[in-house]
Amino acid sequence: MDFSEPEHLRMLRDSLRKFVAQKMPRAEAARWDKENFFPVDAFESLAELGVIGLTVPEEHGGIGRDILSTMVVIEELSKRSLAVAVPYIMAACYAGMNIVECGSDTQKQTLLPKVAAGKLLFAYGWTEPDIGADLASVKSTAVRDGDELVINGEKRFCSGAAFCDFIYALVRTGAPENRYDNLSLVLIPSAAPGVSIRSIDALGMKGAATTDVGLLNVRVPVKNVVGEEAGWNRGWSMITGSGLDVEKLEVAAMSLGIATAAFEDAWNYSSERQQFGKSIATYQSIRHKLADMQTQLHGARLMLYHAAWLADKGERCGVETSMTKLFVTETAKSVALECQTILGAYGYVKEFDMERYVRDALLMPIIGGSSAIQRNNIVNWSGLAKA
Ligand SMILES: Cc1cc2nc3c(=O)[nH]c(=O)nc-3n(C[C@H](O)[C@H](O)[C@H](O)COP(=O)(O)OP(=O)(O)OC[C@H]3O[C@@H](n4cnc5c(N)ncnc54)[C@H](O)[C@@H]3O)c2cc1C
Repeated sequence: MDFSEPEHLRMLRDSLRKFVAQKMPRAEAARWDKENFFPVDAFESLAELGVIGLTVPEEHGGIGRDILSTMVVIEELSKRSLAVAVPYIMAACYAGMNIVECGSDTQKQTLLPKVAAGKLLFAYGWTEPDIGADLASVKSTAVRDGDELVINGEKRFCSGAAFCDFIYALVRTGAPENRYDNLSLVLIPSAAPGVSIRSIDALGMKGAATTDVGLLNVRVPVKNVVGEEAGWNRGWSMITGSGLDVEKLEVAAMSLGIATAAFEDAWNYSSERQQFGKSIATYQSIRHKLADMQTQLHGARLMLYHAAWLADKGERCGVETSMTKLFVTETAKSVALECQTILGAYGYVKEFDMERYVRDALLMPIIGGSSAIQRNNIVNWSGLAKA
């Protein structure tokens, strides 16, 4: 067992830290949050680093599948701003990882080089107004009409839809009684006639605004079914395959980045802030909070990297990725709230980044399968008799 960080990860982390310092300054990150703004320029500069190709094989213009490195990129970007981290996930993971895993040969050849170049972003269109965790019950439909599909329905909380290229939509393609068999994933161009996008005013994750998407008689070619003919009615196995493991880790990596940033700010603030004639870092109550959080973050980081290492080896790791998603997101939420208390009143005002970390951290146990769903997964997949 060797826990030392390999040279290529150290170099990747260093180059990302330089990138963040140059292209994602704190003041800009605060502005992106305030204006709910997707910073295209920063994203394009990120693409020039080549890191979006971390999920794309070399033969398709990438630098090969490396999930652990992808998580390090998400972690470092999330330390500064989800307005760049989420679009990175939309490109490298939603588009890259999924097309590699589930796309047809033609889709791989045509789409993956664009992914690697940072020219293709997918938004997830899975959730619907009546459908949250129970995704197998989606009601949006796609019906064949010659060489086309006609799509109708409504998607909710479709983050980044306003600037994505395709909505990666889960739709019903047969009778609803066959819940798991009659679902497909379809690439719907966000600019297609019949697609309407309305922003939802959410507490956090600004920059990749979440939206309601209306789908009214939207026509797309049948070849937009992910996997083409072979992918017809195979949507459920696609969303519950190895992509689901990586999706849980993406949320964990964002959470770790947010919580680390909150911790570093609280650490520095505690040394600078003087009360009763001395730095608050000298009070045991503050020191113990910092010690506890440092320990929690160390555990969270080890869990994330271990689960990513398992996923990289192609091993079954549903239990490990669920435990990681549960632990890291809940830890990030409690760490952000605790750090806020160290800043006192300044943790609650917009002039400091802390209130943003709190807003962003609160989301993490909700998305990508809630903590309750992860707890269900952990015991169900570990063989406990079902309730
Ligand atoms: C800002 C934001 C961005 C999002 N981005 C996207 C996106 O890009 N694409 C997308 O498709 N979705 C997105 N979502 C939706 C998100 O993934 C959903 O919140 C999630 O699917 C759960 O649905 P729900 O919140 O409606 O909860 P529900 O499923 O209605 O659950 C409500 C409560 O019941 C609990 N619960 C439900 N089922 C069970 C069960 N079987 N056992 C125990 N407890 C249970 C849940 O844990 C939760 O506490 C986003 C949401 C937000 C807020």
